[in-house]
Amino acid sequence: MAKLPTRHQKIVCSGSKAALDAPYTIFSGPLSMQMLSLIHISLDEARLSLLAILNTHHHADHIGGNAFLQNAFPQARTYATKLEAALITNPILEPVYLHHGAAPHTALQSKWLMAKPSRVDQLIEGAQLPIAGIDLEVIALAGHSLQQIGIVYEGVCFAADGFFGPAVLAKHGIPYAQDVDGQRAALEYLRGRNEHYFLPGHGELTRHADLAEVLDANTAAIAIAADAVYTALESPADLATIAARVRWALQLTMSGVPQYAIYLSVIAAHLTALERAGKAAPTLEEHGIIWSRK
Ligand SMILES: [Zn+2]
Repeated sequence: MAKLPTRHQKIVCSGSKAALDAPYTIFSGPLSMQMLSLIHISLDEARLSLLAILNTHHHADHIGGNAFLQNAFPQARTYATKLEAALITNPILEPVYLHHGAAPHTALQSKWLMAKPSRVDQLIEGAQLPIAGIDLEVIALAGHSLQQIGIVYEGVCFAADGFFGPAVLAKHGIPYAQDVDGQRAALEYLRGRNEHYFLPGHGELTRHADLAEVLDANTAAIAIAADAVYTALESPADLATIAARVRWALQLTMSGVPQYAIYLSVIAAHLTALERAGKAAPTLEEHGIIWSRK
């Protein structure tokens, strides 16, 4: 449990971190059932109520706690941006898009890719979000996900998956992006922020003085992935073959079908980025969609 550098007592959660504070805003992150129970017990013991759940984006590891919290605290309102809300309220859509828009096979319907259904009560629009008398600043961090946001409050930037901690980067190899250009832009945007602390969804609380180094590590990981995808286009190939070449080149290990489906998706995002840069293009050939260098 990480203490946030604030003078009030609040509960704010992001990633696997939680800091107890009030008024009780829950910043939804990858929360285990143990963490959810702890939040519930802590609130009950303090005779305080949960007011808000903020979803930064729809990924199941970030909204998996919604159903539990909404059931335990019916008065709590849940907030998300418009596109993310569409996916949060229809959790089948994450495994659907990971399976070419088709009905997803069983392995894609795990809790890590398909959260329990939950509701969104209010759409987040604009840069200000007043909740329970406090004004939160909303920052756009699209790229990792369609309409991802971060939240800024009292010198702390909750950056969701706008960047990853170095240990997480080392473990996963390629940082996931739905749109690689957006991901790069989000990193540059965060580089210009002046908050004292930055908290990623996956990683450690980062002081401003250390931020540039961590962001550099993210930028480098994206560049390595982009180079590997471009190198894999030495001869024209389909998506699965390119993914296999990159996997071999970067010595990436896959834990199972769900992780591979996510991996295939980020390789596809890198191919789109190469097309935008005028470096690659897809054509329909006898064996399917084939990518070539331009
Ligand atoms: Zn995510």
